[in-house]
Amino acid sequence: MGAKLSQQLPKQPTKPNVSPAVAAWTIEDSERLYRIQGWGEPYFSINAAGHVTVSPKGDRGGSLDLFDLVNGLQQRSIGLPLLLRFSDILEDRIERLNACFAKAIARYNYAGSYRGVFPVKCNQQRHLVEDLVRFGQPHQFGLEAGSKPELLIALAALTTPDALLICNGYKDQEYIETAILASKLGKTCIIVLEQIEEIPLVIEVSRKLGVQPIVGVRVKLSSKGIGRWGTSAGDRAKFGLTIPEILAAVEQLRSADMLNCLQLLHFHIGSQISAISVVKDALREASQVYVELVRLGANMRFLDVGGGLGVDYDGSKTNFHASKNYSMQNYANDVVAEIKEACTERQIPVPTLVSESGRAIASHQSVLIFDVLGSSEVWSELPEPLQDEEHAIVRELYETYVGIEADNYQEAYNDALQFKEEAISLFNFGHLSLTERARVERLFWNCCARILAIARQQDYVPDDLEDLEKMMASIYYINLSVFQSVPDSWAIDQLFPIMPIHRLDQEPTQRGILADLTCDSDGKIDQFIDLRDVKPVLELHPLQPEQPYYLGLFLNGAYQEIMGNLHNLFGDTNAVHIQLTPKGYQIEHVVRGDTMKEVLGYVQYDAEDLIENIRRQSEKALADHKITLAESQRLLENYERSLRSYTYLST
Ligand SMILES: *Cc1c(COP(=O)(O)O)cnc(C)c1O
Repeated sequence: MGAKLSQQLPKQPTKPNVSPAVAAWTIEDSERLYRIQGWGEPYFSINAAGHVTVSPKGDRGGSLDLFDLVNGLQQRSIGLPLLLRFSDILEDRIERLNACFAKAIARYNYAGSYRGVFPVKCNQQRHLVEDLVRFGQPHQFGLEAGSKPELLIALAALTTPDALLICNGYKDQEYIETAILASKLGKTCIIVLEQIEEIPLVIEVSRKLGVQPIVGVRVKLSSKGIGRWGTSAGDRAKFGLTIPEILAAVEQLRSADMLNCLQLLHFHIGSQISAISVVKDALREASQVYVELVRLGANMRFLDVGGGLGVDYDGSKTNFHASKNYSMQNYANDVVAEIKEACTERQIPVPTLVSESGRAIASHQSVLIFDVLGSSEVWSELPEPLQDEEHAIVRELYETYVGIEADNYQEAYNDALQFKEEAISLFNFGHLSLTERARVERLFWNCCARILAIARQQDYVPDDLEDLEKMMASIYYINLSVFQSVPDSWAIDQLFPIMPIHRLDQEPTQRGILADLTCDSDGKIDQFIDLRDVKPVLELHPLQPEQPYYLGLFLNGAYQEIMGNLHNLFGDTNAVHIQLTPKGYQIEHVVRGDTMKEVLGYVQYDAEDLIENIRRQSEKALADHKITLAESQRLLENYERSLRSYTYLST
């Protein structure tokens, strides 16, 4: 009976509805599923071959097949994981931001101009900063430094005449002196007072040097940001001066005869502001502080609205934390309109507008590509038919299994759960053999697979079945360290769009989570972008023997690289700078990832010492006849080769 029954069961219980009437999977289905238009436009899309393509110049034409590109790089022995940086995207982002402000300025008849800066902390890589400065030249785009080392970068890199160099962060005498002296090199450094203690320091240093600096103040607004970085503003914010402190600063500068130095008002209400209403509130408050400072006699010329311009990681255009409910143009319009209104009301000249957008400029330009090493499934094989002398619990679970229908699947789920629990306690008391327990477990997972297949077809999934998707998820093992390459996914649950970069003309029939190479149970990705909220699993293709499977993680160009750490000693990944050419692409720079020798060096191991150590141990084993000469040579060669090679697996 059992055998007959099992023949009647669908061969693919996860897809019981497969019938010839169902249309074949298309790349449009993949577009919808991975929401690539939502987060990827105008840079990423899918071509007819089912590969992700990159159009680094946005709407201005030219595109590359990402899968072919990665294969081409592999042939140049630039292995995975691999960070691709598209300098054309960076240029396009700068162009866009400036175009949005130019449009807003024209639309509102704004009498001032826009002079943006890039906050270096967002991505300090030399090639990227140099590109930024170059692409920013036509717009006099500047840099923002948030620390002494970043100031050193900015001072050397920023050569654009009249571009601003905004000096934020904690400052000591050396920082202030360097910034003030740099004005003698023709740079426009603006020292932004962030702490009350910095005021006398600035006064003293500028007296000593006999140079009048341009000074700004960072205000602690009472309008709060929202979400993760909400505490960047408000009275308890780490940086900035409260209103009484700003008044004290004005008085101190006035008595030092330096009030004319105070020319900029700065605020920053946090990163990834997802609601435009929050931006507006902050702008309204800051605009009033600005006009009041003018009234107090400061020589105000700049309003610096900080960062916070969001990135739509999930493409939902909502105020969800991984999204934003406004466009770059909306943002520019609001900045321009709010300050214009405040200034017009008081009949004072409008300021030059400065923004410090980091995330919105740097995120899109890099793509992380990694390969899947293998996968494991909780469920794969169909249950064996019942045998003659089967344990009662196995029999009951089997009956549950064959009886699962659309009208009883929820009840069947509860039954299956209960039988499984019973089976485990029977086992614990010695009443069930290991073989019987194995049969129970396999039956249980088969029940779950059928129930899940039915649940997925329903409009509404009962709460107690929601975890089933997670329980049944495959694990895809990825050649990557989340801690090194996507730290914000681990540290603050940030979402990034992730999808296969090929096979997109095939239906991804598996649902999985991603597990990384580290021995850490946190080294995984189990939250994925979705239109509503987040998905606990990602749709993936079944792995094919001997065929690579490449995934791309997108929009990760801001903050991830520098915040990455060496957990388990997985080092920096290879990075390649790609530029579009009329005939294809050109590799501008290859930045090789860390070798094992390098990461071991970070924790004070010397490669020569290590080799010598192994050599001595080999000699001893040789003398003791525990190893042959050929074996010991092979061991040493492997050891030395490993030291020179990449920390990731070579596949
Ligand atoms: C981090 C930071 C920025 C950049 O913010 P984004 O949200 O990445 O644009 C700008 N200004 C200051 C002061 C910052 O601390």
